[in-house]
Order: sequence, then C-alpha cells, then structure tokens
Amino acid sequence: MRILAIPCLTDNYAYLVVCETSGLSALVDASEAGPVIDAARAAGLAPRAIWSTHHHHDHVGGNEEVARALGVADVLGHVSDRGRIPGQTRFLDTGDTFTLGALEIRTQHIPGHTLGAIAYIVRDPATGETALFTGDTLFCAGCGRLFEGTPAQMHASLQSLAAVGPAARVYCGHEYTEGNLRFAKHVEPTNAAVDAAMARAHALRANGEPTIATRIEDELATNPFLRVRSAEIRRTLGIAEGADDATALGAIRSAKDGFRG
Ligand code: ZN
Ligand code: FE
Repeated sequence: MRILAIPCLTDNYAYLVVCETSGLSALVDASEAGPVIDAARAAGLAPRAIWSTHHHHDHVGGNEEVARALGVADVLGHVSDRGRIPGQTRFLDTGDTFTLGALEIRTQHIPGHTLGAIAYIVRDPATGETALFTGDTLFCAGCGRLFEGTPAQMHASLQSLAAVGPAARVYCGHEYTEGNLRFAKHVEPTNAAVDAAMARAHALRANGEPTIATRIEDELATNPFLRVRSAEIRRTLGIAEGADDATALGAIRSAKDGFRG
C-alpha cells in the first residue's frame, strides 16, 4: 500500500491510497478540486472512488469536480450523510467491507465531530500494515470539535479507532499536530512522550513535511482525548478523580476549545 498526502486549502489533507499490486487507487476526502486533480495526474493515477469521511465542505468541496475530471465512479460516505455529501453513491455503516485491488477495507461509524463521520480502515494483507483514515474525529494528538455529537459518542468513537491496534497508522484530515501537542503539554506537563512528539513535529514542519502519520501507540501515549484517565490531566483541569470517561473527555474538549497556546 502506498499513501500520498495532498495538502489542500489552509491545513487540510486529501489522500491517494494506492494498491501497488493492482495499480488501483482511491481518494480520501476531495477537499478542493485543483490540488487533488493535479496530484492524481502527476502520479499517473485514475482513482475509481472518493471515500468521504464526513460532510463538511473542507472535506467534500471538490467531490463533483474531481469525479468529473478524473472519471471517478463512486463516492462513499456514511448512510446518515445522504443528502449532505455531494455526489454520494454508496451509503456505508460500521462493518461494511470492500476491496481496492489486494487491499481490504472496513468502515467504522465514528460519530462525535459530526453524526455521520466514518473511518476507512485499510489493511494490506501482503505487509500486515493498517492505515486509518479518521477525518476530523481522531487527529494526531487531538480530536475534532463536537459540532454534532456528544462527549460520550466521541469517546466511544476514539476508543473504537484505538482498538484497531497499536501499529495502525493514523491519517487525519488536518495538519493540527503542533497546536494539539501544545495543548497536550499544557494539560500533562510531565508526559515525556509529548515532548518527543513535539520535537518530531517541529522538525517535520521546519522541512515543510506533514506530521502524518503517527501510530495508534503514539496517540495512546500523547493524545489527551485517549488519555482521559490520566491523573495529571484530571488534576490540571479540575476533573474529579471519579468522573466517568465521557465526562472527562467533555471537560478536556471544552478546555481545548478555549485554549490559546
Ligand atoms: Zn470537519
Ligand atoms: Fe475539517
């Protein structure tokens, strides 16, 4: 499996997923038409499908123009996003499976940021690699704002992504990593894994490179929204020791919404 990140808009990423065995490819989130079409043509690829992670314009704004220009046949999204994803032809839910050449894809409904958010979990049986396309639900070192869902939904969605396995790689919808890590450092100042992730992210950004992709094991070590039981985070934010996970996640999300670091 080969994955190309395509920078779009201010800080969005679209992706090209390529099965190297068959040469087949697909796009994740056609954010805007120009860069996506250019990237596919430059790579000599003719993606058959667009996999949309959620209905927000910065993720689907290029769907129709990209489909026309590249001859894309199918636009995938969650069943509940019917009418909200331009050009959608396939309506998926948790546990649906399909293939891209030799690659095996499974979808997982991950409500929270929006109610129709869906993850594409791609496994390459030849290498054992797994890639997670998480949209705006799980970010490197963060999570999306709760525009439509509840803290409990976001918590369950993030846990379902973490459960895919420690080695799975996270391909998210935005380059928010450095800002997310500043917040992670603020709420958990003695977490050395956050310092290491910050150094890595700074070095990559200084070279103009994406911080994508981290592994789930990195996220479990650094991401405050996967660390809702951390005593230090709870102390920093005044979350009761006995508060349940979803309540803690809600408090961490509120603190991040107001964080200017
Ligand atoms: Zn979004
Ligand atoms: Fe977004």
